[in-house]
Amino acid sequence: MKILKVSLITLSCLLLAVGGGGDLGAAEASKPAVSDPDLPTVVVVSTGGTIAEKRDPKTGGAVPALSGADLVDAVPGLGKVANVKVVSYSNIDSSHMTPELWAGLTKAVDKALEDPKVKGVVVTHGTDTMAEGSYFLDLTLKSDKPVVFVGAMRDASDPSPDGPANILNAVTQVCSDEAKDWGVTVTLNQYINSARDVRKTQTSNVQTFMSGEKGYLGYMSLGKVRRFNDRLRRIRLPLPKKLPKVDVVSDYAGSDGSLVRYAVDSGADGLIVEAVGAGNVNANMFKAIEYAMSKGVPVVITTRVYYGRVLPVYGDMGGGEMMKKAGIILGGDLPSYKARLLLMLAIPEARGDIEKLAGYFEK
Ligand code: ASP
Repeated sequence: MKILKVSLITLSCLLLAVGGGGDLGAAEASKPAVSDPDLPTVVVVSTGGTIAEKRDPKTGGAVPALSGADLVDAVPGLGKVANVKVVSYSNIDSSHMTPELWAGLTKAVDKALEDPKVKGVVVTHGTDTMAEGSYFLDLTLKSDKPVVFVGAMRDASDPSPDGPANILNAVTQVCSDEAKDWGVTVTLNQYINSARDVRKTQTSNVQTFMSGEKGYLGYMSLGKVRRFNDRLRRIRLPLPKKLPKVDVVSDYAGSDGSLVRYAVDSGADGLIVEAVGAGNVNANMFKAIEYAMSKGVPVVITTRVYYGRVLPVYGDMGGGEMMKKAGIILGGDLPSYKARLLLMLAIPEARGDIEKLAGYFEK
């Protein structure tokens, strides 16, 4: 039954994703609401997640229930902020998102932003993979117009759902000139985070998205953007025709490197190894990484530690300094799941040039 549900969800997602042109980027647009010529136009692209879910009265589990238009209709006062158009891209839990679906989303968002009347886009998305999905779009969108990812921790049947206020804040942010040059942001519970630095930090609390040492970009308060910071850096990469396969393997005490060898033998084009501390692995793991390199598979080291970056400090076998000398890429301060997306986009650009590849992780 569960398998049937997932495949139906996947099917409906793909149907929406390919709707209108047979291309994974095309999406279905709804009719614009009555428009006020004095207000900016904002496009809301809906993809699913808890924000669009309700409890099934029979099972008690939250399931996809609301369309993009339903989400917008549930926000009191939205029509006073902007003329909102809705594009329904998919309606899936974000645990079913893939880099290929995000590539299609990039195309759908760029298409919406091409319209000179459109001020920016709000993407509604599940929170579980929002930190990744928003970063993928931050890397690949062509447009510089504001794009805000938004979701909810409480579904639409909760006594106090957070979705409507989050959408109102996101649309307000897009319309504000204070919110310029931030690239893609993740804005929930009033806090504005850069897509590059944001992480989900709490499984069920509405205050879950945080930017760690980097800090928030700003705060939404009484319909205004309070700007705290400029964003630090932004890398832009083109969408390749086909995304390479990049796997993530964790190091841990006593790991034997077999999963790295398995990934290489199963056709990985690149690997992320999540190391300990400032980017160190044990000798078995190091030998497995050398095996990957001998097969032409680039390896990027990240760390399991929440704050700080991977550094070339330790010179013994598997230490960061030794790995750097061996041509293994140190992944800076990106968490593994974001380093994976950057590597997927950078491999086709670098065309085997390891120094060029490493350069993307130093920016
Ligand atoms: N399961 C949900 C999702 O990521 C969680 C959420 O949206 O808050 O789609």
